[in-house]
Amino acid sequence: MIAQRTVKTQIRTTGVGLHTGERVNLTLRPAPPETGIVFRRIDLPAPADFLVAPERVTDTRLCSALEGNGAKVATVEHLMSALAGLGIDNVFIDIDGPEVPILDGSAAPWVYLVQAAGIETLNAPKRFMRVLKTVRIEEGEGANHKWAQFDPLEGCTLSFSIDFDHPVFRNSAKEMHIDLSRESYVKEVSRARTFGFMNEVEYLRSKGLALGGTLDNAIVMDEFRVLNNDGLRYADEFVKHKVLDAVGDLYLTGHPILGAFTAYKSGHGLNNRLLRALTEDASAWEWAVFETDAKTPPALLRLYPQTI
Ligand SMILES: [Zn+2]
Repeated sequence: MIAQRTVKTQIRTTGVGLHTGERVNLTLRPAPPETGIVFRRIDLPAPADFLVAPERVTDTRLCSALEGNGAKVATVEHLMSALAGLGIDNVFIDIDGPEVPILDGSAAPWVYLVQAAGIETLNAPKRFMRVLKTVRIEEGEGANHKWAQFDPLEGCTLSFSIDFDHPVFRNSAKEMHIDLSRESYVKEVSRARTFGFMNEVEYLRSKGLALGGTLDNAIVMDEFRVLNNDGLRYADEFVKHKVLDAVGDLYLTGHPILGAFTAYKSGHGLNNRLLRALTEDASAWEWAVFETDAKTPPALLRLYPQTI
């Protein structure tokens, strides 16, 4: 059986929010089967919690922010990406502020945190959303044209293309294709950091945003080059980060998607529109569980080797 997972023990981290610059504490706690991924604002007069869901996304300008039961939690995507990459289905996420800590700007610290807590296999089948037909969303025209789509596949793959008119991007791959059952999310994706441009940072700060942003939690470029002393972690770190974001954005149903995701210049907003287009069309997907290995697609046996 491909089983649901949670964290083995409670574990906590502290850091600043990228946009608020405020220090926050975040605790991951084990949760029973069929709980899902639940955010809980513990700093509010009456603690408020909500289950992640695509329709809870309220702000996608610079990050994916979720809102439910009067509570808002921003910049959830790198944590969600790590939870997706490690196959965590059920967890309580307690947070004492409005924004998830940015840590190093990638998903790697979240991967380490979950691995340090340990992963517990639960006695309930993992529920996948199987894509049954092509679902595509497009936006803009000419230089602003962007699109994202799902296609049926008995596996989990992502293909992403970016196109930035900037000297740094001429030497960095513009495309990435990853079959998560053959290449490691942890090794190939999780370490890729957020990136931004110096002139944007100055503009964002003037609007009271990116207040926690530093060269320790983002790749920052001026008009010509990367300003971080240590350069890039991967030669194609930019497109890898877009894949990292997409993995997180597409996990806001709380369930892995059995299908192929392909995108050109997509971002949080378009990823969310695509996810909603899928979930709102009852003919576009179905639930899939795998109780016996004989009936499990080989890609999923590779991706989730700890079967019980
Ligand atoms: Zn990101």
